[in-house]
Amino acid sequence: MSTIAFVGLGIMGSPMAVHLQRAGHEVRGYNRSPEKTRALAEAGGTVVASVAEAVAGADVVALMVSDTPDVEAVLTGEGRGGDGVLGHARQGALVIDFSTIRPDVTVRLAQAAREQGLGYLDAPVSGGEAGAKNAALSVMVGGSEEDFARGREVLEVVGRTVVHVGPTGSGQTVKAANQLIVAGNIALLAEAIVFLEGYGVDTAAAVRVLGGGLAGSAVLEQKADKMLQRSFDPGFRVDLHHKDLGILTAAAREAGVVTPLGSAVAQLMAAARAGGHGDLDHSALFHLIASLSGRD
Ligand code: NAP
Repeated sequence: MSTIAFVGLGIMGSPMAVHLQRAGHEVRGYNRSPEKTRALAEAGGTVVASVAEAVAGADVVALMVSDTPDVEAVLTGEGRGGDGVLGHARQGALVIDFSTIRPDVTVRLAQAAREQGLGYLDAPVSGGEAGAKNAALSVMVGGSEEDFARGREVLEVVGRTVVHVGPTGSGQTVKAANQLIVAGNIALLAEAIVFLEGYGVDTAAAVRVLGGGLAGSAVLEQKADKMLQRSFDPGFRVDLHHKDLGILTAAAREAGVVTPLGSAVAQLMAAARAGGHGDLDHSALFHLIASLSGRD
């Protein structure tokens, strides 16, 4: 069993840290705003007041923060008065970044970690808040075989599908593809529901039968009711999906490939955010799509 520093106890990080503690690891959790630490404390974990305290002597340092600059700040300590992972972790510790961030920056951060004698895995996840709560996440892992072998036991506590997809940065690239597929599905589901409502059909019945055929999907299962009920508590926020579609479009341009539907849905997600829906679940893209038809 390992000592695990866990930085970022938000919607995803908190249940993941709790599962690790319950699995017998010794988890030391840090969150920038202290009120989110309660669940970990109740599960028997230790709550600390700085990144430095969390990582001191830890075998594994798990990060689950929002965006690329946040991972960078937590790792380097820049803008945090030097309170960063790289300056305080013990030699040989393994950093596992569960956050969804840019693949190119991941490669640079992993290099900096290695120069400090640390292992590094990018391990973004999919499965949403429900997946985190049920320890049923899909974890897409980039890094060396050796680091993957070391991190596997920890990854399998939070994930049901854990796959090593390639060298450093590959996990983030696969996650960008994941976010393209999910956003496209949400947009098409929203269009289908607006279309069905336009005909006044029983939408709940329609969704039930659609779910049994080729149109069925995890997105339909988890998001159709939210759209039918106009109930968009997050979940996964529009702001975060907007961030991820920015990662996708930049990475696609970098690779010289085009993602026409991805670009369209990135614009729609940006419009949902600009319209004041950034803090709602990403299924609130429905509001925007409905409003294009003069409905909501
Ligand atoms: P969240 O609830 O907003 O949690 C983000 C956490 O990061 C908070 O604890 C926040 O601290 C911390 N944080 C952000 N910036 C920081 C900084 N500069 N320094 C220190 N701490 C910082 O978000 P989430 O939904 O858990 O998402 C976390 C990551 O998982 C994101 O990369 C997201 O894209 C990804 N993800 C989310 C889902 C989902 O369904 N929610 C699914 C898959 C992947 P404060 O409490 O102080 O703000």
